[in-house]
Amino acid sequence: MHKAVCPGSFDPVTNGHLDIVSRASKLYDEVTVAVMVNKSKKGLFTLEERMEMVRETTADYGNVVVESFHGLLVDFCRDRGIPVIVKGLRAVSDFDYELQMAQMNQGLAGVETLFLSTNPLYSFLSSSLVKEVATYGGDVSGLVPKTVLSRLTERLERDSQ
Ligand code: ADP
Repeated sequence: MHKAVCPGSFDPVTNGHLDIVSRASKLYDEVTVAVMVNKSKKGLFTLEERMEMVRETTADYGNVVVESFHGLLVDFCRDRGIPVIVKGLRAVSDFDYELQMAQMNQGLAGVETLFLSTNPLYSFLSSSLVKEVATYGGDVSGLVPKTVLSRLTERLERDSQ
């Protein structure tokens, strides 16, 4: 069985993430979405909420499992026998860091990284931008799934009180 992992914070999951996960799910028999435990930065959503949103929005793909991870991604991969990391490359600005990480992961553990070119519709899209725009009342309905939009609106309303 050919397996791959899509890692990230998913705070919250966006249409850009889902584009990559859905394409990865067509290339591999099983795709694990590894949701990072954020130690340093405090997220808007808890780990459980982030995982739940990914589960809800990837359920239809049929071969996607959602797990949490902390520490080294290559250790996560080794423990589960996953040889490939799939990532989306949005722009040149992503490239330097992503290349370093890919080379490190290859060197450390022989884990390969497959880069998928981002759908141009989402090349500007990040979770932080979605949160920023939504905080100031901007319309992000085309950037995140419906279920994420309602959780986001609810959370921002709660936090502003
Ligand atoms: P963000 O970068 O949005 O804060 P993450 O750290 O959760 O979110 O992103 C994890 C990975 O998801 C990124 O390294 C990248 O591979 C992919 N990704 C994120 N946003 C997009 C996007 N708009 N298009 C394609 N891939 C994306």
